[in-house]
Amino acid sequence: TELEAMLKKQTLPDGAAKIHTHTRASAQAKIAMTDVELQNAILNQEFILYYQPQIDIKSGAVKGVEGLVRWQHPKHGIVFPDDFIPRMEQIGLIDPLGWIVLMRGLTDLKQLMEKGGSNLRLSLNVSVSSLHDLRFPDKMAALIRESGVKSNQVILEITESGLIKELARTLDVLTRLRLKGVQLSIDDFGTGYSMMQQLNHIPATELKIDKSFVQNMSETDRDRVMVAKTIEIGHELGMKVVAEGVETATQLEFLRLNGCDIAQGYYVSKPLPLPEFLDWVEKYRA
Ligand code: C2E
Ligand code: CA
Ligand code: CA
Ligand code: CA
Repeated sequence: TELEAMLKKQTLPDGAAKIHTHTRASAQAKIAMTDVELQNAILNQEFILYYQPQIDIKSGAVKGVEGLVRWQHPKHGIVFPDDFIPRMEQIGLIDPLGWIVLMRGLTDLKQLMEKGGSNLRLSLNVSVSSLHDLRFPDKMAALIRESGVKSNQVILEITESGLIKELARTLDVLTRLRLKGVQLSIDDFGTGYSMMQQLNHIPATELKIDKSFVQNMSETDRDRVMVAKTIEIGHELGMKVVAEGVETATQLEFLRLNGCDIAQGYYVSKPLPLPEFLDWVEKYRA
């Protein structure tokens, strides 16, 4: 298959057998992994997606899901993306991971649509380096077409901080994706390098307010202003606005009063493996 051909071309850099120790602050867990393990994980497709719902704030309806990758490590169990994505970017494994994630997401989406409705949207995270390849839009469109899903049901989330490098070519790729119907979301908006000047050149359909602003809203006026203004800016540029990291009823109410469109966060549900998510959505809709 094309995926296998792509993997064969990957060669590991010097020192690949070295053990990298990743510390996950939140879990206080230390995971040691080698680059060879990462490469095998790609070959054996040891990745699954957890799904977190995105709800329409006005109606409460489930609009879509964000697929978040997890590595099912043969020894360590579930490994979170922050513990392996950065290394995969460094050693050139992020593109094949992206295709595995896309194919898994498109397959799962069909089951999700049976329980969650035929218009359910699937949001996936894409590393910006994958967007430097001018063939990316064609490949993506072909895989979406083969899956039978409508291209406008797929939303690619990209982080604004990564967009600066190779901006011209990235904008070209993003425009081609939009022409094929794929939707684009600017993730972690408000963090990192300010994209204010570029914002109106990016053909995005959605803006995602970073969870750090949502979570500090109750403490500081500054964060409340940031959130309210971001919603305004997004709407003025014709985008939907999503708030991530919504953990409380108070946060949801503030977002509703300020006209935010979509909410995602532990208050609605934490990310769940597919079977559990299917149960969740059935109960939620009942
Ligand atoms: P992100 O795209 O900003 O995803 C949001 C993160 O916040 C997720 O962490 C999610 O589990 C967590 N989260 C959701 N709701 C809440 C909440 O209410 N409160 C708090 N405190 N956290 C919440 P996760 O799953 O560990 O993913 C971390 C990051 O890894 C993602 O951040 C994304 O940048 C990256 N990532 C995930 N999946 C993929 C993928 O398939 N490809 C690539 N390239 N990156 C991915
Ligand atoms: Ca995201
Ligand atoms: Ca985010
Ligand atoms: Ca993030």
